[in-house]
Amino acid sequence: MNFNRALNILKKNDMTLVESANDNVVVTCRKRIQDHINRVKYFYNILVESGQIPLEDIDIKRVMKHDADKLKYNNLKRQALRYCGDRQLTQEEKQQINDVVMEHIKSNPHHCEYWGAGDYKSLGINCKEMYDTFLYEMCADWAATSEENGNSLMGWCDKVVNNKFMFTEHQVDLIYSVCTYLKDYIDPSLKRDYGLKSIKLSQLW
Ligand SMILES: [Zn+2]
Repeated sequence: MNFNRALNILKKNDMTLVESANDNVVVTCRKRIQDHINRVKYFYNILVESGQIPLEDIDIKRVMKHDADKLKYNNLKRQALRYCGDRQLTQEEKQQINDVVMEHIKSNPHHCEYWGAGDYKSLGINCKEMYDTFLYEMCADWAATSEENGNSLMGWCDKVVNNKFMFTEHQVDLIYSVCTYLKDYIDPSLKRDYGLKSIKLSQLW
């Protein structure tokens, strides 16, 4: 376990490892996203410092703004609906969740869905036009998500590469080489439960 890194993340986010969602679920959602963004930066930085990314594909300025749109209040509110556990969502609420996810993945080129037709449930999305510079950011994103959820990064690659997302041979080699490198930096002790799953809709806002 990398204690320094764990402490640093906790300090930055003012959180304990198991955070119960407080009465303002939007605040908890914001913390969760900020934590995710910090992890993406951490993994991207590893790639930059270790020379895994060719210089022309490095874009620190862009990665510093990774997922910034998710932090807008209206987006946080719609995202928060996903965690309501006490009653069925209305059709309109379900639509709001769908909209906020689709708006994000269709306007951010670090997501495969930006490049090919389809939504977040689709299989066979054509990502062959995706530039390498975005693939490195995507791998850092996947590593961050694996760490948060305690899931296997390589397991995720095996599940989605050339199944959910269709890539060229060059892209497949890049993804596997980068993720194989990053997987050793994933710290399973930093898996996080934000307590969001037990949110009652009445607590929403
Ligand atoms: Zn994203």
